[in-house]
Amino acid sequence: MLQQELHLTKRSLYDWELVSLTELRNLLDNSGVAASLDSPDKLVWQGCASVKTSEFLLRIGILHSVEDALCRFCKANIESLDHLLLLCGPVGDRV
Ligand SMILES: [Zn+2]
Repeated sequence: MLQQELHLTKRSLYDWELVSLTELRNLLDNSGVAASLDSPDKLVWQGCASVKTSEFLLRIGILHSVEDALCRFCKANIESLDHLLLLCGPVGDRV
């Protein structure tokens, strides 16, 4: 079933390949990666709900001011997952 789900091969997989594929699938599931609904051959990252950014902490009232929720790297924007991973200049310079 996993083989058809990921559209990997036309032949049956060996037992060791199924074990490796299952481990890969578990790793992807735990990382928020899933098959795209539009294209089953494409994987998409759905975000990581368990990351508690300052934006989240501000929203639920643990942080009390916007200044407390600013990105620790650039101090210019609120720390959100998108900001940290895609938009923050100092973080991008380090990658
Ligand atoms: Zn930043």
